[in-house]
Amino acid sequence: MRNTYLPEETAKEIDVQVSKILRGLGKPEPPLDLNAVFQLQKLDPQYYLTSDDGVVRETVSRVKIGAKLIFENPVRIWDAIRHADLRALYVPEQRRILVDGNLHDMKKRWNSAHEIGHSILEWHGDYTFGDDSITLNQSCHELIESEANFAAGRLLFLQDKFSERVLGQTHTLKSLGEIGKDFANSWTATVYRAVETLDVPSFAVIGCHPRRGKGDKARYFVTSRSFANNFPNFGEVEAAALLASYCSFSTKGPLGTKTFVIKDARSDAHEFEIESFALPQGDVLSLAQYRKKSPTIIAVTSPILR
Ligand SMILES: [Zn+2]
Repeated sequence: MRNTYLPEETAKEIDVQVSKILRGLGKPEPPLDLNAVFQLQKLDPQYYLTSDDGVVRETVSRVKIGAKLIFENPVRIWDAIRHADLRALYVPEQRRILVDGNLHDMKKRWNSAHEIGHSILEWHGDYTFGDDSITLNQSCHELIESEANFAAGRLLFLQDKFSERVLGQTHTLKSLGEIGKDFANSWTATVYRAVETLDVPSFAVIGCHPRRGKGDKARYFVTSRSFANNFPNFGEVEAAALLASYCSFSTKGPLGTKTFVIKDARSDAHEFEIESFALPQGDVLSLAQYRKKSPTIIAVTSPILR
């Protein structure tokens, strides 16, 4: 899956809402305290366990039946949670955010911020029943999801505080991991947002091990704007082949680095460097950054005078 960029106007509108929250919290330094956001926004976060549906049942029973189509049949919410890939849910009437209590803390943090995103974007009010696609057509669902994700990223990474740390620097996976710790966000989310923030050609790949198993090797292929604009011919397939060309078979820690060349849309060659790391849960995280324009090779037909 490739990352997409929201239209500038939408991004600005979302940023205005995120700014209101951050101003309300007195422009905090990282890491953002999500509980403070819940309080400020008068949101009621609840964590449910699939073994205990009490919170979900209570939520459903307190929602006005008939207020929303989905609530005419409350069983559907619970069905969606249990059977679909539902990890979180925002119920506008109660300002309640339901998050799967079994998730890893970092995932809870991201999903909570994502639901906060839905809650602050008033045009989501008519759609938001949860992160499943049963109530919306696919493209509409994807759009509001990417808007909520953008809001989550801008909130958790404190808007410009993250850009200030990321722009104008060459990064390594390790250095981005350190920045991620400062913001109390996951390494993967930090690399993802860093690439989207960078103003130089760069990309990240998140997927299963490039040389093991049959899973998706480039589940997320994230490119900076300038990479997407200048290197339109390099996509998930090329990225997967590149990773397979240098990654070791190891299942944890650094898997290797490589310097490689890609041609831009005008056929000029550019040098990049990429590194990969196998995460404990089995995914491999890779980061590629621009180095320099490759020297043009000119065929010498006459002796060079010194
Ligand atoms: Zn959502």
